[in-house]
Amino acid sequence: YFYGQSEAVYPSPTMSGTGTWTESYNKASALVQNMTIEEKVSLTTGAGANTGCAGNIPAVPRLNFTGMCLMDAGQGLRATDFVSGWPSGIHVGASWNKNLTRQRGIGMGGEFRTKGVNVALGPVVGPVGRVVRGGRNWEGFAADPYLTGALASETILGIQSVGVITSTKHFIGNEQETNRVPANGIEAVSSNIDDKTMHEVYLWPFQDAVKAGSGNIMCSYNRVNNSYGCANSKTQNGLLKTELGFQGFVVSDWGALHAGVASANAGMDMVQPNAAELWGDNLITAVKNGSVSESRLDDMVTRIVATWYQMGQDQGFPDPGVGMPQDLTKPHAIVDARNESSKQILFDGAVEGHVLVKNIRSALPLQKPKIMSLFGYSARNPDQWNYNATGGTSAWMFGGESAFLGRYITGAFDLDSLEDIPQIAPDGTIICGGGSGAVTPAFISSPFDAISSRAYEDSTALFWDFFSPEPYVNAASEACIVLVNAFASEGYDRPGTHDDFTDGLIKHVADRCNNTIVVFHNAGVRLVDQFVDHPNVTAVIFAHLPGQDSGRALAALLYGDSNPSGKLPYTVAHNESDYEALLKPSPAEGIFVKFPQSNFTEGAYIDYRHFDAKNITPRYEFGFGLSYTTFNYSSLEITKREGAGTSSYPVGDIVEGGQSDLWDVLATVTARVQNVGEVDGAEVAQLYVGIPGAPVRQLRGFDKPFINATQSTTVTFDLNRRDLSVWDVVAQKWLLQNGTYDINVGGSSRNLPLQGTLTF
Ligand code: BGC
Repeated sequence: YFYGQSEAVYPSPTMSGTGTWTESYNKASALVQNMTIEEKVSLTTGAGANTGCAGNIPAVPRLNFTGMCLMDAGQGLRATDFVSGWPSGIHVGASWNKNLTRQRGIGMGGEFRTKGVNVALGPVVGPVGRVVRGGRNWEGFAADPYLTGALASETILGIQSVGVITSTKHFIGNEQETNRVPANGIEAVSSNIDDKTMHEVYLWPFQDAVKAGSGNIMCSYNRVNNSYGCANSKTQNGLLKTELGFQGFVVSDWGALHAGVASANAGMDMVQPNAAELWGDNLITAVKNGSVSESRLDDMVTRIVATWYQMGQDQGFPDPGVGMPQDLTKPHAIVDARNESSKQILFDGAVEGHVLVKNIRSALPLQKPKIMSLFGYSARNPDQWNYNATGGTSAWMFGGESAFLGRYITGAFDLDSLEDIPQIAPDGTIICGGGSGAVTPAFISSPFDAISSRAYEDSTALFWDFFSPEPYVNAASEACIVLVNAFASEGYDRPGTHDDFTDGLIKHVADRCNNTIVVFHNAGVRLVDQFVDHPNVTAVIFAHLPGQDSGRALAALLYGDSNPSGKLPYTVAHNESDYEALLKPSPAEGIFVKFPQSNFTEGAYIDYRHFDAKNITPRYEFGFGLSYTTFNYSSLEITKREGAGTSSYPVGDIVEGGQSDLWDVLATVTARVQNVGEVDGAEVAQLYVGIPGAPVRQLRGFDKPFINATQSTTVTFDLNRRDLSVWDVVAQKWLLQNGTYDINVGGSSRNLPLQGTLTF
């Protein structure tokens, strides 16, 4: 009756270690052999919150196993002191910069390491961003599996290069917050995903993560085809541990365990944050009475210990949780995790995720304005920033004070009432969204701070009003900047993609100031049709969630020290209705009111694929973004590799990430990009492929060269077998298509001046 029940895949595959993992597995097996059942179970069971870490695994001192600290999240270490606030996932997505993403991973990973965090609970590749109003889309990179996977891969390689395990999350189909966990007799939402869509969209970035060696995967709160994420044998035993050859361990999302024996046999390896009656002692009982085999328990523990060895955490790793005091308000030793060498990366990362989408009458960059006015609630830092505001481990939920950087939603807050869910964070600038992905940096540069310093240098007369809905506007202002936001948080989905308060403020200013520049700190899609064609709105920037260097980065762009180079990692529509069924989360309704169903019937047609297929013109398309210069594309060359395409299916063995020859390069595309303007700058060159029978175009390559004015460079895109294949549900393999592929290169998904073909 239900759309697509989940298939049973048993037994859980036992991993013995291949490739670079072989030695780690040998060491792990030796260690596990000496453990009692009780010790083994202790390694698979969260020990509760006895440190500032969200998750803890106890040590086994007699065997020199140190234990583990697990802590959030994808944009830096949260809820502690002396750490940096890195750009959010969506900001990294908007930067399209692989090298910078790798550097960010290294810098972030170093902070987790110094604080004694063994497992960083990130990156986020689920949600991908199917639901436009999804509350956690900002934690992930882009509403596209290819871009998400590429940036997740760089993040994982960066973080793990310094010996910190990444927990790529949330596996899988975790696309909405509404009914994310069971409550009030209603089960968590079931993401009903067919096999083809699963592979081509939702599994794709996890496949990249496994290929990059992610040591840990977090199973999700939602159900998948009506079976809970952490008890789902098809996704864990089947997709992850068989098809992708995953060698690490699966941890439950916090509290996502709803059945002990079933989850153990379905391939979950560690529960967090505690035994929750279903694991721990009851797992011991289950193993002793044979409900769970001891070999399954051995496999869980071996995977955990092998991953610990694989990252070199047996030697010289700081004590778990050493820099993570449980109560920051009590005296404690300072463990400063920050690193001078990260400063430039934090700044560049903040700069590159800003996307300029409108700039007329040379509004930007600013030229030493004589009089300038600032408006909007996202300009200055919130009134309060202290240990209370940075939040202990308790204050994180629903933005708490930590994420929200303000007091707006503390106190009575009814999540079931849409009225209570904020669309904006009115109490100050936001550098991240809310929930466990929020960061608590030791320092925040607000836009107001940074613009004030520039005004001082330029002797600009500054006026401001950050509170009034209808502020006084000095008509003599040479520029008026309106700094506003669109907030989102874990725990709920956004009630809308625009709000009347903010739109009214923008229009009020634009009616009185003929050079109105709008800046959004947006935790997801933010519509602009309400004001963007106002003749006095001269520039619009999507500033996303830049992390701690927000203000400095914005000022560098506004004043032209930096040239905008970000591009949208999602589609901005004219109207909410243009997104059709993808706009909102699926509600609990009808005969399934206690078993909410979310049917992914659109298949691969999310975000730009939806707009392309339905022929809907967006306001700003996926991949779009302006620069202070102009780029010209030429000289497309498409070269099929020798011997490519002799087989339609991959024939390689399963290695980490799937069949080994999925990554064979079958064709190479090159193009010339010239900076034909007067300003040096970086351009995100994009390659889209139209696979026969698949969406008309799908992103399959990108590169971001920095090109000086008048200069040009060649961009090269390698297309591998997976890039050019579709998932064959009968053969259960990727299938290369016979026919003509469209190859398009350009500066956005709808500005593709170079067009050619490739035939297999
Ligand atoms: C979130 C995870 C997070 C965990 C630990 C959960 O509620 O969904 O993303 O890592 O809490 O804080």
